[in-house]
Amino acid sequence: MSSMSDCDLPPRPLKRSISYNCKNLVRQHLVHVENRLFEMFGDKEKNTIDISRFLLGLTATGMRHSDPRLKEMRENLKKFQDKIAASDHHALNISYDTFMSIISDNLEVIVKAFSSSFVIPDFRGFCHHIEEIYAKCLTNTDGKAAHYIPQLARANPDHWAVSVCTVDGQRYSTGDVNVPFTLQSCSYALNYALALGQLSDVGVHIYVGMEPSGRHYNELCLDYNNKPHNPMINAGAIMTAALLKPDLSAADRFDFVFNMYKRLGGGEYLGFNNAVFLSEKECADRNFALAYFMRENKCFPEGTRLHETLDFYFQLCSLEITAESGALMAATLANGGINPLTGDPVLTVDAVRNTLTLMHSCGMYNYSGQFAFKVGLPSKSGVSGCVLLVVPNTMGICLWSPPLDSNGNSCRAVQFCMELVSRFNFHNFDNLRGHFTSKCDPRMAKAESKAQILFDLLFSAAAGDLSALRRHSLSGSDMQAKDYDGRTALHVATSEGHLNIVKYLLYNCQVYPLPKDRWGRTPLDDASSFGHPDCGEVIIECSKKRGIEIPLPLSDANDFHAD
Ligand code: GLN
Repeated sequence: MSSMSDCDLPPRPLKRSISYNCKNLVRQHLVHVENRLFEMFGDKEKNTIDISRFLLGLTATGMRHSDPRLKEMRENLKKFQDKIAASDHHALNISYDTFMSIISDNLEVIVKAFSSSFVIPDFRGFCHHIEEIYAKCLTNTDGKAAHYIPQLARANPDHWAVSVCTVDGQRYSTGDVNVPFTLQSCSYALNYALALGQLSDVGVHIYVGMEPSGRHYNELCLDYNNKPHNPMINAGAIMTAALLKPDLSAADRFDFVFNMYKRLGGGEYLGFNNAVFLSEKECADRNFALAYFMRENKCFPEGTRLHETLDFYFQLCSLEITAESGALMAATLANGGINPLTGDPVLTVDAVRNTLTLMHSCGMYNYSGQFAFKVGLPSKSGVSGCVLLVVPNTMGICLWSPPLDSNGNSCRAVQFCMELVSRFNFHNFDNLRGHFTSKCDPRMAKAESKAQILFDLLFSAAAGDLSALRRHSLSGSDMQAKDYDGRTALHVATSEGHLNIVKYLLYNCQVYPLPKDRWGRTPLDDASSFGHPDCGEVIIECSKKRGIEIPLPLSDANDFHAD
């Protein structure tokens, strides 16, 4: 009996109207956000938008102006600025229509950024933690740089870099993030992912195991099946090098990997350190021994050219990145193989899953078990002092500092990882439902229930936190919502004398200037009770402009809350 296919089904007219409705909803949402953008950065009376404030707001969401996803916006802006004389101070305030035409090509990502829809909604708050952890680890002077080759032994032990890139392309970097360093064993994880893409896991694991070795990373040993234990230690990595494009010439094999790494890092810094390569080759007795040992045990695929394979392996260890470009590579792994900035599908989902699995169990040399226990995140370490850390579906982090502990892992990087998971519930087995935990989940929008939103809104107004209020406005909070006592953000901001917040609420959010709380008090009464005449003047001015009658002050206004 033939199964019923889609063509056998009667036509479904409903489908069109559903998709029409969806489109309509999307359009409505866009219009809503456009209006919100205007409220945030615009001047309603002049119908203009302050473009520099808009760009600053964008930076606060974690997006960089150089982001490839904003290419058209940058070009449009440049064209517009070229037309306007540089000396024209009003050029920063552009008309609403011009603004919309400048951002229209990249509206989707801009809307996402400003509607708190990125994976880390409060990116600034998150970066504050990263900065604190960075500073804490900076004081750690443990460890010594690798000394098996002079190029690594000469590394500056003070170098310390942390760079973060989320799966939504939010970026934060601190420290020596533009100093190049060699990938060393961090390349093992990437090469394994590339080999999986070519041969699948079945093809690759004919030649290499998937079991932690429990041995030093370059120990001369194989597993019970006479295979290298896993692709994350030297023997396994030499094997992976043998599997990568064996039919190509040595030069083309190098080009292939170089291009793939370049795509992983979204075209950002990737170099080759020839001095390190020559040094590696010169001081490679153990790697030669491993390769010969594997050949003796018939580990390699037929036709493997041993010396060419070793050269290739040394070259891959000698590729250079910076913490910045490394973070993007790690973020591509966090994002299922798709580069978050370029959208390039560099690796398959399966290749990424398998790579992260082995990074989790084998990525930190002979410390892998403890790292999996304490940190619970996939990571790969290299003797240059680099660690690529992945928080799956959330972010990639590149850490770099040359001094190593006895396992060969960067002391500062390991400390950073521990601190990170002590603050955030990033450990693989942290309870994501948030029961009984003091850790926070930066992936969760701060306020969820109506009551929480209102509490956060009033709290932000009291604290004078303008950017939090902007976020509220963008995500559609009712800016004149009242609490149980009828108090609004405007009441609270006025009582605290936050003039900028009062202006923002009145002019950008267009809230009603004279709402009454349950004691019949308006923000104007609060202004006089709490001694903030400047706020009172703004409220009076705004009410007059809108033709709203100003009530007489309450007789007890000056005694209110006198205790
Ligand atoms: N190039 C180094 C080696 O082959 C890489 C080792 C490492 O980073 N652990 O020994």
